Amino acid sequence: MALIVRLDVDRPYGREPWLRHALSRLSSDFFLPRLESMAYLAELKWMLGLLNAQGVRAHLFFRRCTLPSESALELIRQGGHEMGLHLEDSRSYSTFLREKQALEAALGQPVYSFSKHGSRGIKYGLHHYAPYEPEKYMEWGARAGMKLFLGNMEDPSLPAVSRDGCVCFPSAFWLEPSWRNVTLHPVSWLLSRMETHDVVMLAHPENIKASPRLEEDFMTVIRAGKQQVAL
Ligand SMILES: [Zn+2]
Repeated sequence: MALIVRLDVDRPYGREPWLRHALSRLSSDFFLPRLESMAYLAELKWMLGLLNAQGVRAHLFFRRCTLPSESALELIRQGGHEMGLHLEDSRSYSTFLREKQALEAALGQPVYSFSKHGSRGIKYGLHHYAPYEPEKYMEWGARAGMKLFLGNMEDPSLPAVSRDGCVCFPSAFWLEPSWRNVTLHPVSWLLSRMETHDVVMLAHPENIKASPRLEEDFMTVIRAGKQQVAL
């Protein structure tokens, strides 16, 4: 049984300070050149450093505004992490395919996994399609030869399902407590759950970096999951 670490890479410049926050918002809607001088993907690289030091592999999901830079790719290769699509425009199969192909072209390799950007029907930015329609994603994933879909439901005990070769974990243990029933599912629940079940832990690097408490929870989980390998 295993801990499956899922990182959704939402913000190219994190949340802080104000200028980087503004650049994250602008990059989400408009094409901006990558600004290494503004610490592009600094929060992701920080988190990859923590994972690599523990030897824990993760699934990383990218938007078109957070494509990995060469320095991020180096850390990804070192840690043996998997790269997938963080689906933003989920209006139709063709918009899904367009995002998948754009990511593959940028990475120079095929991608076999995806997750969905946004939850609870909230719209994030110009290109984002807010409805969450997992049945459709399962069908599209199988049709496009994808192997893994990691879903956004908030009850982390839901079992995985499979369709035509595409495995779906419908839910995740959201490390950030705003999306988790912390009474039913404290961090200690995850630690014992992953001994007997495959379970997905979802985290967003910029949120974890901003909170010492969340960083501590993250480290507790990955240290415990150290001997267990992601898919
Ligand atoms: Zn997202």
